Amino acid sequence: MAKVKKNLNFQRYLDLKKEDLDLPSLEEDTKGYYTVEVGERYCRVEDCVNDTLFTSTNNLRKHILKQHPEVLLTGEESGGRPTQTEEARAIKFYNDIMKAYDDREAEKEEVLPDLPLKNDGSVNITKMRRAIRAMKLPVPCEVCKDNDQPKLCCHDDVKDTCEHFDMFVDPRDQEDDGDEA
Ligand SMILES: [Zn+2]
Ligand SMILES: [Zn+2]
Repeated sequence: MAKVKKNLNFQRYLDLKKEDLDLPSLEEDTKGYYTVEVGERYCRVEDCVNDTLFTSTNNLRKHILKQHPEVLLTGEESGGRPTQTEEARAIKFYNDIMKAYDDREAEKEEVLPDLPLKNDGSVNITKMRRAIRAMKLPVPCEVCKDNDQPKLCCHDDVKDTCEHFDMFVDPRDQEDDGDEA
């Protein structure tokens, strides 16, 4: 599986949680068999709640064999080098799921509102807190509370730690990028 291992999207897949990947369920082929792709580590049997990143594809197959005996798998239980076709199919699989992931992330970013700013460029705390409350989030946020800075929540002083800054796109960040370019 040399080619799969080197694939960037496969490496990203390994770094992400099952719930964040939103993986497609294993699909039955025309002969009633299911295929685990080369390198796969998460169980994709429909509705399986197991979200472990298995230490190897072989261990994933063992899990399926044991927990989902009704699911018949193609291929060897262990060993056996994947064919080029299998590797190509797997790479397409990782590329597809990571593309879907990136699309979802991009969409998330689009819906984030701009951080409200005052004319002097500092954050408009009153407006920001109003927006946060409208999102049904508490003020202060957990982090500011834990840091014993409840009053600083939504202040520029804590913008690198305060959770509420994640709920907005900071227009100042974009300007900074422009300056550097
Ligand atoms: Zn499972
Ligand atoms: Zn905060």
